[in-house]
Amino acid sequence: MKKQEVLIVGGGLAGICIAIHCIDKGHSVTLIDKGHNRSSVVAAGMINPLVFRRMTKSWRVDNFIPFAENFYHTLEQRTANTFFHPITIRRCIASEQERGFWEDRMKDDAFQAYVHPFDEEDNRVDSAFRPHGTGRVKHTAYVDAEVFMTACKALITQHGEYIKATFDYGNFDAETVSYGNKTYDTAIFCEGSESVNNPLFSKLPVEATKGEILTIKSHTLPENESLNRKCFCLPVGEKTFRVGATYVWNTNNDLPTEEGKQVLVSNLRFLTEEKVEVLEHRAGVRPTTLDRRPIMGAHLEFPNVYIFNGLGAKGYLMGPLLAKELVDHIFDGKALDREVGLGRFF
Ligand SMILES: Cc1cc2nc3c(=O)[nH]c(=O)nc-3n(C[C@H](O)[C@H](O)[C@H](O)COP(=O)(O)OP(=O)(O)OC[C@H]3O[C@@H](n4cnc5c(N)ncnc54)[C@H](O)[C@@H]3O)c2cc1C
Repeated sequence: MKKQEVLIVGGGLAGICIAIHCIDKGHSVTLIDKGHNRSSVVAAGMINPLVFRRMTKSWRVDNFIPFAENFYHTLEQRTANTFFHPITIRRCIASEQERGFWEDRMKDDAFQAYVHPFDEEDNRVDSAFRPHGTGRVKHTAYVDAEVFMTACKALITQHGEYIKATFDYGNFDAETVSYGNKTYDTAIFCEGSESVNNPLFSKLPVEATKGEILTIKSHTLPENESLNRKCFCLPVGEKTFRVGATYVWNTNNDLPTEEGKQVLVSNLRFLTEEKVEVLEHRAGVRPTTLDRRPIMGAHLEFPNVYIFNGLGAKGYLMGPLLAKELVDHIFDGKALDREVGLGRFF
């Protein structure tokens, strides 16, 4: 296929993954990002194949996990950076019922890749923090979002154009795929929760789900695993941890609040009695959908204009493969997953 000119709007995780796959196909990329990221940089970047509440697997996790692991490892080598950190997640089991879910999953072939059998340490019970023992998850990691985003931005700049600017929708002609005085073969919009401002896609139900997250200093929490109960506590080095995250639906504001901080501090009480020091407090807005599926595909009227959005709370797990699937769909005509299309909303 001849080299295509691709315009990407939004340089969060979604836009970055799309840009990298386009570059890998030999296309010419122009990425425009206004420099106010609302989700990808704030994120803890954790990759967890399970949903703890009912101990189910995340959607399509058997596809997403191997692809994501390979994607991040390969990018680490290409950019000479380290941002992919495998780490055990230890869930402090909250109830007898949840313990039962864990026991059932351990016997289920479909979960063998994701749950460790209980060992002596997992079975250890303590009335305050581990009333029903703990369970460990396999194939878990976190992506250091700041390092990852900075490294990818440099990679995109080497192979294409990365423009820090606010995209002006009034200057875009969807019929001819032109922006200002330049015409593209394809445009892909990846604005996260701000896609409501895009007149082409504003009718799509991308919801804004605010999340707050703390960085704390602790002298007692474990540094070799991420504890989880009511909140996650992710060690990121030098006795520093990220604690998150809150969920507030339909809120577009991305400012940290005292209320959010108090929720996190009190959730942390389920993991430690230490009075920890809060070093930093941030907030972001996840782009979510009611059916928890991403939104991907061509505009229903303009076939060369696409959207890639709705990565929700699991962008770092799903983004790399979904972006590849969209790029393969656009340039090689491969079918998209039936659950992600825009048609489901109309
Ligand atoms: C507190 C918190 C914790 C999280 N933790 C995790 C986690 O542990 N694991 C996980 O997988 N996910 C996590 N997430 C979710 C994850 O961050 C998202 O799934 C993902 O980052 C969404 O990426 P995105 O690119 O779609 O959106 P965004 O990151 O919001 O990026 C959108 C980009 O579009 C740009 N933009 C918008 N409009 C315009 C315009 N008009 N012109 C130019 N640029 C524009 C913005 O500048 C922005 O950079 C978390 C999110 C939050 C808020």
